[in-house]
Amino acid sequence: MKNRFVLGIEGTAWNLSAAIIDRTNIIAEVESQYQPQKGGLHPRMASQHHASEIGNLIRKILTEGEGFGVELSAIAFSQGPGFGPCLRTIATAARALSLSLEIPLIGVNHCIAHIEIGRRMCDVRDPVILYVSGGNSQVLSYRDGKYRIFGETLDIGIGNALDKFGRYAGFQHPGGPKIEQIAKNAKKYVSLPYVVKGMDFSFSGLTTAAKDALVHASLEDVCYSFQETAFAMLVEVTERALAHIGKDDVLLVGGVGANERLKEMLDLMCKDRGARLYAPEKRFMRDNGIMIAHTGLLMLESGATLDIKDSAVRPNYRPDDVDVSWI
Ligand code: AMP
Ligand code: MG
Repeated sequence: MKNRFVLGIEGTAWNLSAAIIDRTNIIAEVESQYQPQKGGLHPRMASQHHASEIGNLIRKILTEGEGFGVELSAIAFSQGPGFGPCLRTIATAARALSLSLEIPLIGVNHCIAHIEIGRRMCDVRDPVILYVSGGNSQVLSYRDGKYRIFGETLDIGIGNALDKFGRYAGFQHPGGPKIEQIAKNAKKYVSLPYVVKGMDFSFSGLTTAAKDALVHASLEDVCYSFQETAFAMLVEVTERALAHIGKDDVLLVGGVGANERLKEMLDLMCKDRGARLYAPEKRFMRDNGIMIAHTGLLMLESGATLDIKDSAVRPNYRPDDVDVSWI
């Protein structure tokens, strides 16, 4: 098969990132991150950041690509889910590139990109996937042409929950990594609501209860208890999916996957069941352009390109809406 190069653009939320890859190499990657001055991620502010940076970013990656003698075969972009204003900014850039370079446009589902880069980096074929990021939390697995969602959050994503609690505790965005550090100095567990309903879970009640707990418990103990409770919910549902589906591999993806305690808890569960846990390096866990370029390449090779008229952004794009034509 001819070697093809794909340029991928990510920018659903905080990280505007572009990358060029082929089947075996990451050729180039450039990034520009939106960091709120105070408070959480604001969709309009994030999109203004992306709009003011994207021109430079694209020029830079095209120049780097040329330096390696790359001739691009397609432009891939994150079509959703994500913040509408951010998605529209990157979609506009992707359409313009596709038209001016006269190469196909590919609309990538952001959640599936997290999965596909994890599969590539860990070389795992058919795992149960725990996808945990800011806006999304899902347990999925491939079956008959789709990634099926076995369980998911009924309200906010786990990253969003951690960040909300972190803001309340006075941390700058993102709170997740700080909560992980502070939790290490905890002395005891304080009781917080554990909410699993069937195969779904929920985090907003837990977040409120954790804020309230700060009145009578130390910050360290509440950070620790928040993590223990929320991660136990995620591990329980992942374990149940493994048992029901009869698979032996678990793949952890998404920004919250950087958390060592979550990895440790998942690993314990996997070892108890004789299963294996796979987790890519941190730079492939969080949002990145490489995952969009890689999924774009898989889609290009299976013919899943997009007409400009069908390239409207999809802020609520679900991974189980995608026909997985490349497996
Ligand atoms: P993503 O949307 O996939 O880029 O993931 C971003 C989310 O990951 C944010 O909510 C962060 O707070 C969270 N995150 C990043 N590192 C950690 C960590 N070490 N522990 C917990 N959450 C984290
Ligand atoms: Mg993400």
